[in-house]
Amino acid sequence: MIDKVSALYDKSCTCRHCQKSFTTKRVKSGSLTIVHRDHDFYTRFKEQSLNPILYTVNVCPACGFAFTDPFKEKLAPWEKQVVDEQISAKWTPKDFGSIRQAPEAIVTYKLAIYAAEMTDQPHSVKAGLYLRLAWLYRSLERFAEEFRFIGMAVDEYELSYIHSDYARADKDMSEVRLLYLIGELYRRLQKFDLAINYFGKALAFRNTTIESGIIRMAQDQWQLAREEYKEKQNEQKIG
Ligand SMILES: [Zn+2]
Repeated sequence: MIDKVSALYDKSCTCRHCQKSFTTKRVKSGSLTIVHRDHDFYTRFKEQSLNPILYTVNVCPACGFAFTDPFKEKLAPWEKQVVDEQISAKWTPKDFGSIRQAPEAIVTYKLAIYAAEMTDQPHSVKAGLYLRLAWLYRSLERFAEEFRFIGMAVDEYELSYIHSDYARADKDMSEVRLLYLIGELYRRLQKFDLAINYFGKALAFRNTTIESGIIRMAQDQWQLAREEYKEKQNEQKIG
């Protein structure tokens, strides 16, 4: 059992709104053991209470602006004004810089989503927030909320695909990986026709991508989505 105190460290941050510095916890890389990776890339660790997604969001204790690393570095004057009026003016100083449990992490994501909406962040940034929030609800087995946020994530990922901003939030996100992920999120939402369509788009990269792992996953999940789709249609006929 690794102890929480030694696996976490304090990272110093500068608020991208008010410029004050504060510290927030991060998980040391290499300190966790992977138990399982879901098909939408949610990773479960042996030390679930240290899942790095608990610590993705930085919340400025002074002004309430919440952000992740891929947020825009600088806010435009109109965005600063909106944050002042809609976030800071209503903020009661609160520090999220110590150990977080899932319920507190959920609050940090909701703050970051609100801040992202107020400040016109790229679709890929918003998509990443919605997906991680859905994963936190999955970890708590709160499936209605999980599916609600998966729905919001997939909308933003589709916009990110259309606007080609997907590498903004995650340097590992390629076009084929994004197409696969959109397919998988639609499959989870039981929108099988859309899932099959996106898995097909990912599979079209079969001969041109070096990401053979993604192609294999797209193949498997395409097959699964087709089976689930048939089952659903049969159920509807019987019903
Ligand atoms: Zn601040």
